Amino acid sequence: MKVFVLNCGSSSVKYQLVDTDLEKMEKQQEIVLARGSVEKIGLVPSISSYQVVQENPLFLPQRQSKLPPPEKEPVEVVDHIAAIRHAIKCLTNEKTGVMRDAGEIQAVGHRMVHGGEKFKKSQVINDEVLRNIRECVEFAPLHNPHNLRGYNATYELFPNIPQVAVFDTAFHQTMPPHAYLYGLPYAIYQKHGIRRYGFHGSSHRYVTYRLGQLCGVNRDQLRVITIHLGNGCSMTAVDHGKSIDTTMGFTPLEGLLMGTRTGDLDASVPLTLMAKEEISVAEVNAMMNKHSGLYGISGVSNDMREVIMAAQEKKQDRAQIAIDMFCYRIKKYVGAYAAAMGGLDHVIFTGGIGENSPLIRDLSMKNLEFLGIEVDPQLNKMENTVEGKISTGNVGVWVVPTNEELVIARDTIRAIEGVDFS
Ligand code: AMP
Repeated sequence: MKVFVLNCGSSSVKYQLVDTDLEKMEKQQEIVLARGSVEKIGLVPSISSYQVVQENPLFLPQRQSKLPPPEKEPVEVVDHIAAIRHAIKCLTNEKTGVMRDAGEIQAVGHRMVHGGEKFKKSQVINDEVLRNIRECVEFAPLHNPHNLRGYNATYELFPNIPQVAVFDTAFHQTMPPHAYLYGLPYAIYQKHGIRRYGFHGSSHRYVTYRLGQLCGVNRDQLRVITIHLGNGCSMTAVDHGKSIDTTMGFTPLEGLLMGTRTGDLDASVPLTLMAKEEISVAEVNAMMNKHSGLYGISGVSNDMREVIMAAQEKKQDRAQIAIDMFCYRIKKYVGAYAAAMGGLDHVIFTGGIGENSPLIRDLSMKNLEFLGIEVDPQLNKMENTVEGKISTGNVGVWVVPTNEELVIARDTIRAIEGVDFS
């Protein structure tokens, strides 16, 4: 079955066409047929990239660097529906397409950022689900409306095929109240739903599942800390297969230091800033989300590669401090989550930084031998999204490339077929 996987942002649409069904999933014979993106939607020009893949997604990580980089071309794309029409044009192109016509698409899977407390797993979208997703817009005003725009566009193009919503927050709905509540008056939680939700759920869930496959042990038997380090960064304590705590909170602002976000911050700081700098809610929000983190501390970039280069080659002190802060927070949460789970079996690094930076993996795991964590310098050298174990101690430390699109494709099939999934 051909599943069209969509991740719609404010000005971008990322997509994959995945050939999968329950039998192929079982036999691990799924194929990513093609992938692509349309970025800078609404600008002149927008940028399209498209790539035929024809690979099993489980083998893709090791091969990723061997695929030629996808070609980028300027295109005129005014809105999300035009972007999706353009994606279909690429997928059905006579020479480079992977299907004859769009009628071959049998289901669409959508990434939805926020499912609030309503969605504990992926859902086939019907009127009621749609109403509930709309109610969650207030929690993720920067994300959910764009995700919904993607749904509206594909509904217009393919009104008769099933569409499934896969939520970033759903995996964390297993957290107990003592982990998800803030120490505010309980009535605030009841009235406004202000609590920890957590994000990157599909990624944390996928890498834990994949670890189970790699070490031949069901994830239900393991205590795992998953560390997703991309532009956004989060860690999760996955205790016997279930998320019991995660670093991102009510919004993706909390927890680790990120590309441009502060991570953990005394809640009185924004209040003080508003008084002292005489800035508005919107301005302080922009400061904390867009001008802080690696970028704000280093003054160099939100891109970890550039921060590392500034620290190592140009000996810029603030770049080094940003790296030290980044790694120190990761280490602190490893200790916290090992305590929360009463022990630790494995740690997984994923995301652009986690998969590609031996330096960050090394620094953040330093001096954790007392927990059984010993990263092997030789094994840790691997770069470019290779999958495997990098440790020699009692606790396994792994690099597992994330694959959120595969989770979306699989959940789309499972939701349609009505089979249980987690
Ligand atoms: P993502 O959001 O998962 O695509 O990750 C983006 C982040 O990964 C950016 O901060 C990149 O600088 C970082 N990244 C990618 N490759 C490397 C690398 N070789 N070393 C350090 N950071 C990297």
